[in-house]
Amino acid sequence: MDAGFFVLWLEDAARAITLQRDRLTELDAAIGDADHGTNLERGFTEVCRALEEWPPTSPVQAMLTAGATLIRRVGGASGPLYGSAFRQMGKALQDPVSLAGFASAFDAGVVAVERLGKAAPGDKTMIDALAPASRALAQAVQEGARAHEAFQRAAAAAAEGARATIPLRARRGRASYLGERSIGHEDPGAASSAIIVASLAAVAAKEVED
Ligand code: ADP
Ligand code: MG
Repeated sequence: MDAGFFVLWLEDAARAITLQRDRLTELDAAIGDADHGTNLERGFTEVCRALEEWPPTSPVQAMLTAGATLIRRVGGASGPLYGSAFRQMGKALQDPVSLAGFASAFDAGVVAVERLGKAAPGDKTMIDALAPASRALAQAVQEGARAHEAFQRAAAAAAEGARATIPLRARRGRASYLGERSIGHEDPGAASSAIIVASLAAVAAKEVED
């Protein structure tokens, strides 16, 4: 996986987030402050702009640029959290990036979110989509899966993890102020994480086709 792959991933994620901006904002309206879709749309648009302005020559650079941009440009909790994930992932990557290297760097990104947000699985946050995705990715690597299949399995795990936040009571972030009333709604950050991992699968599948 080269810098181009990482740029395509971020660009696809930006498009998908824009397409689903209103859904993300509606989810945040139910248990937060109705800004998650617009926060992320702005952040990922800025990421694409930064990648154009400073075309990365390595996957590490692509992730560091994305991380720094999200930390700087997104006001809500999700900006620093996603920003740290991409930054930490960039720091953990080694050129050339193998699937196994990607999987362990992805996990480093998830751990960064857990540390910064002090969230654990089951707290009804983006971790509930990211942690299962990371596990599925590691498992696929162990089983010798090809990249597109491994990413597909990670995307399915993230989507399932996001859906599984519906019956949970939020213990972190703004939604936790609602207590019991946070039950019955999908966590917006888990939903956006599933979108971002789905983009990974979409871009890898496209590379296989081409
Ligand atoms: P804000 O809550 O500041 O308005 P956003 O609406 O952009 O920020 O993002 C909300 C999402 O961020 C939540 O749905 C949740 O997934 C995630 N989040 C919030 N706080 C935490 C935390 N402490 N740890 C992990 N994820 C968190
Ligand atoms: Mg919000």
